[in-house]
Amino acid sequence: MLEKKKYKFWFATGSQSLYGDECLQVVAEHSKIMVEGLNKSGLLPFEVIWKPTLIDNASIRQLFNDANGDEKCAGVITWMHTFSPAKSWILGLQEFRKPMLHLHTQFNRRIPYGTIDMDFMNTNQSAHGDREFGHIVSRMGIERKVIAGFWEDKTVQDRIADWMITAIGIIESSHIRVLRVGDNMRNVAVTEGDKVEAHIKFGWEIDAYNITDIAEYVQQVSQGDIDALVEEYYSSYEILTEGRDEKEFRQHIAVQAGIEIGFEKFLEEKNYHAIVTNFEVLSGLNQLPGLAIQRLMEKGYGFGGEGDWKTAAMVRLMKLMTQSISNAKGTSFMEDYTYNLEPGMEGILQAHMLEVCPSIATGKIGIKVSPLSMGNREDPARLVFTSKPGKGVATSLVDLGNRFRLLINDVECLPQDTAMPKLPVASAFWRPEPNLTTGAEAWILAGGAHHTAFSYDLTSEQMGDWAASMGIEAVFIDKDTTIRNFKNELRWNSVAFR
Ligand code: MN
Repeated sequence: MLEKKKYKFWFATGSQSLYGDECLQVVAEHSKIMVEGLNKSGLLPFEVIWKPTLIDNASIRQLFNDANGDEKCAGVITWMHTFSPAKSWILGLQEFRKPMLHLHTQFNRRIPYGTIDMDFMNTNQSAHGDREFGHIVSRMGIERKVIAGFWEDKTVQDRIADWMITAIGIIESSHIRVLRVGDNMRNVAVTEGDKVEAHIKFGWEIDAYNITDIAEYVQQVSQGDIDALVEEYYSSYEILTEGRDEKEFRQHIAVQAGIEIGFEKFLEEKNYHAIVTNFEVLSGLNQLPGLAIQRLMEKGYGFGGEGDWKTAAMVRLMKLMTQSISNAKGTSFMEDYTYNLEPGMEGILQAHMLEVCPSIATGKIGIKVSPLSMGNREDPARLVFTSKPGKGVATSLVDLGNRFRLLINDVECLPQDTAMPKLPVASAFWRPEPNLTTGAEAWILAGGAHHTAFSYDLTSEQMGDWAASMGIEAVFIDKDTTIRNFKNELRWNSVAFR
């Protein structure tokens, strides 16, 4: 379901004709060497494509419009080798609609003290030219990333790689389509929101179908297909019957196999990439989709429980962003459930009724069948596991009535050493930065939901850059958060984002 697209990023070098052809030749040679070096580093998830040096309004305008029109181009990296008068960039920038990275670097690392002359100064003046370029981008109020440093340094290349992933999120956001088979859970506030505004801001299409429409697809799945998938479950996971009758247990699992196949067929046919369910709206289904949703999430679909389409879209977005990362640790829908408040052991147990993505699992994954204790359907089958230790980012997109806010919390998943033999759901246990109490206080002050989209593989910087590109507020809860400053930030932002 996550179809890897071979995106490319264009490298646009700025200069002007004032310095003569010889200088322009050097500029082109240098930028070619740099693009080759970046591609050879092995650190960038996508290829960089060299473009001829830009020297005037016509060539600049043409390049940005070509970039707009090229489906494979996910963004443009700009760099001013010499001075490039910024008025030449105004029309091109005005018409450009894709992510932009301003790489503030220079070809040489060291000033050649023994030989430096005015020719060298004129050829190598990005300290000068990049300021002129930065000025016009800022004056025009265009959102972009600025990365400064020597282009051969690993830290710079790692940051370019991180930005590329953000750029994919910006580009891909407008292709996300969320299927709602069930409205938001009755009476719940935080999962609600303005779908039209989400379409305008993020490009998300959010549509409703009757649950019975998708249930028909489930009912039409052949017994042979169900049996084959149940066999796959039995060979992939540990079967934890816990005293239940083996035949009855298998029948319960078969229900989820039918849901997985039927749901996926519906999603594929109608071209949706994320789905929400609601345990209050299950006509035509025998169980709340559990194991089935967990497997769909692992395949790359977004999910939100109780009709939470905002989180479903965020999970999909973060899965799209992380798909190019080798050895990715996982991305999931998650819910703050219960605290451990013991001194030194503080943290939040993360879980959901059923639907946690197995991409974040560590160790064995089992299948259990247990009562849901909510709603009126039969006991659903679900995958159970604990989660990898390590740092990650938890995000919550909230609708404040007149605008969206993205909360971004650095969290650390801690090893789950103490067994929870009676807990029949998958879980993680994380400690929010800067600590549980300040993290929780800030989250609540900002109006964050109990649902989150979580990933080990993204950073708060990437999610904040994505939010900035969408033109919405991002608030960060991290090691530097203090409540006094955080409250002021919310107060100031309420003016800035009105
Ligand atoms: Mn929930």
